[in-house]
Amino acid sequence: MKLVPLGGVNEVGGNSFFLESNSTSILLDFGRSFKREGTYFEGFLLPRTHQGLKDLLEFDILPRIPGLYAQEFAIDNKFTKPRIDACFLSHAHLDHFGNMNLLHDDIPVYMGETAATLIQSIQDTTRTRFSRPYIRQATDDYPSNVRTFRTGDIIQLPEFEVTPIHVDHSLPGSYGFIVEVNKERVMGYTGDLRLHGWRKDLTRDFIETAKNKNLNALLIEGTNINEDFDINEKRVQEELSESIAKTNGLAIANYSLRDIDRFRSFYFSAKKNGRKLLINKKQAYLIQLLQDDPHLEIPPLDDPYIKIYRRPKRKYYRWEQELFENYSMVESPDFDQTEYVFHCDFWNLTDLIDIQPQPKESTYFYSHGEPFDEEGMIDYNRMMEWINHFHLDFKQYHASGHAPRSDLKRIVDEIQPQLVIPIHTEHPEKYREIVDVPILLPMRKKSISI
Ligand SMILES: [Zn+2]
Ligand SMILES: [Zn+2]
Repeated sequence: MKLVPLGGVNEVGGNSFFLESNSTSILLDFGRSFKREGTYFEGFLLPRTHQGLKDLLEFDILPRIPGLYAQEFAIDNKFTKPRIDACFLSHAHLDHFGNMNLLHDDIPVYMGETAATLIQSIQDTTRTRFSRPYIRQATDDYPSNVRTFRTGDIIQLPEFEVTPIHVDHSLPGSYGFIVEVNKERVMGYTGDLRLHGWRKDLTRDFIETAKNKNLNALLIEGTNINEDFDINEKRVQEELSESIAKTNGLAIANYSLRDIDRFRSFYFSAKKNGRKLLINKKQAYLIQLLQDDPHLEIPPLDDPYIKIYRRPKRKYYRWEQELFENYSMVESPDFDQTEYVFHCDFWNLTDLIDIQPQPKESTYFYSHGEPFDEEGMIDYNRMMEWINHFHLDFKQYHASGHAPRSDLKRIVDEIQPQLVIPIHTEHPEKYREIVDVPILLPMRKKSISI
């Protein structure tokens, strides 16, 4: 089989890998490259959308592949039949799925059931690029573009057999894949994964399966190839709980909306301290959609320790109004601050102007990693100005969604592939320092024979 990386090499994210045999071809992930986009566009200088993909193709932000994109984006106005049999998404982070709405309408997109729910909630509550949906509902004469799978399923294509296996990452519904061609050549793809989360057993399942398949090659992520740490999700929850106990005023939580592990940790820490977790509407909408998933053990929205903040606004969307109809809301910013842990991420910092957290008695719990680029650093510094302005105490508790160096070594040592292809890292060469297996440093758009 032939592998052509279209993104996700020498960068963290932007994953997109084209795999081809004689008669069949697939894409593994089709994510947005914030590195390539950010090189040319930022803030008010954004790619125009009225001329299709012109601006994104100009800078090679998207690959110029005929038959990959939807008819309205046909390259040079020449429409070609789809060249790809299927696209497989590892998980619902934008750097892995964010370009899926540009794909040719006839290309089926496979993903985990939970990933589909997460992407649906993003689609329902935010604007998508080019106003094209990620997930198209089936109509009488056209099927949906999405096919969902669970671990244990095997997807058969003419020459390919694709086996998705769950892994643990910072959002639920994450998978790695084993791709076999004609039972002869076998490749593994980790997606993003870790062994220090609550569900390390999922990642262990991936390792076990990959080990038994005698992989010819393993595409493995290396986000943290330069780092070793021993902080895990369990410790984050314990430390959060202790720290909230010491907060006299408002406890303010900044964590990623779709990181359900972290949501649960804040929920349990709040509950343990007799406080309620006050979430925003977008998270409430997501929790509502995920509620029925028995694997996630999510507390329901009518749980006495969960409340939803209404946030004053001139006009509410329909999905917001439906939440108001179904659940009781905290409507006034003058709530008793000692009773809540208030979810407030970067984009909702203006809520603090209305709430006026008790100065010097309130704490801002920042539950993310360090900013990894200049943009992130500017946002981080701006957030710190808000924290200083309101005289908040600042605390950071976080465990990465990605395995540290020592675990990456363990994963390769156990799987023992014939070849390691490091992806999703700016330092793929660092794998040479930790494993004995032959390593191939991939280059974007350069074909690799497996
Ligand atoms: Zn990623
Ligand atoms: Zn990810």
